[in-house]
Amino acid sequence: MTSFDSHAHFPTASAAEHHAQIARAREAGLCGILAVGGGPELDPGAIAMARECPADVHLALGLDRDVAMTAAPDAATLAASMTSLRGTLARLADEGIPVRAIGEIGLDFSHDPTASVKAAQIALFEAQLALAAELDLPCSIHSRDAETETLASLARHASPARRRTARVGVVHCFSGGAAFAAALVELGLCIGLSGILTFRNADPLRAVAADLPRDRILVETDCPYLTPVPMRGRPNEPAMLPHTVRRLASVLGLGEDAAAALTTENARRLFGLAT
Ligand SMILES: [Zn+2]
Repeated sequence: MTSFDSHAHFPTASAAEHHAQIARAREAGLCGILAVGGGPELDPGAIAMARECPADVHLALGLDRDVAMTAAPDAATLAASMTSLRGTLARLADEGIPVRAIGEIGLDFSHDPTASVKAAQIALFEAQLALAAELDLPCSIHSRDAETETLASLARHASPARRRTARVGVVHCFSGGAAFAAALVELGLCIGLSGILTFRNADPLRAVAADLPRDRILVETDCPYLTPVPMRGRPNEPAMLPHTVRRLASVLGLGEDAAAALTTENARRLFGLAT
């Protein structure tokens, strides 16, 4: 089984810990990992992983919703934030570390749904959807308690060509219903399934997963969060991805190897990696 972790965070910047995680991931049969930043807390670990383990780790960078009030409180600050992000992407490309996706970006109205926070998050999200389209990169998207706004932003920025080729990106850690999934697929998105798929109370999500178009399904750990069953209580890491793949296989009526191969191929296609 060779699976691809399409969304992983590495908040600790310890190179020894990074290498240990990669060794365990290889042992568990992983063939690749997308290390995902999103702001000052997550970027250093993701960049360090991509730098230290270039054979296994690919990089996503962006400005996530939790930095919206500092990165996009007004148009001028947003413009400066985007210039800075472009500069970071260019510097990493010069260093031989191509950024494979803009992420994590998105909308989360679960904590502070005031109008100014919503407006800043939407402005930051849409500026990066536009940047991703310009650079022909996919996005790794977070959406929580913001389905209507997420779909509206995507509808404004997903060009017909990117919808047709399913190049827009992935809504990671999906936990929504069938209607939201169908609308995202229609807009050219893939659906990222995390350890939530293994949770005891996740029958509704498993029913949604069973009906997804198979070429749109990715798997992810979202580590160090969302540890899958039966590893609950421990910090998550890429080596735990096979528990989610196994559950997906049973949901889809596939063998484990087939589910791993399917989701790996989907991730490689989306992130523009050689198969
Ligand atoms: Zn994440």
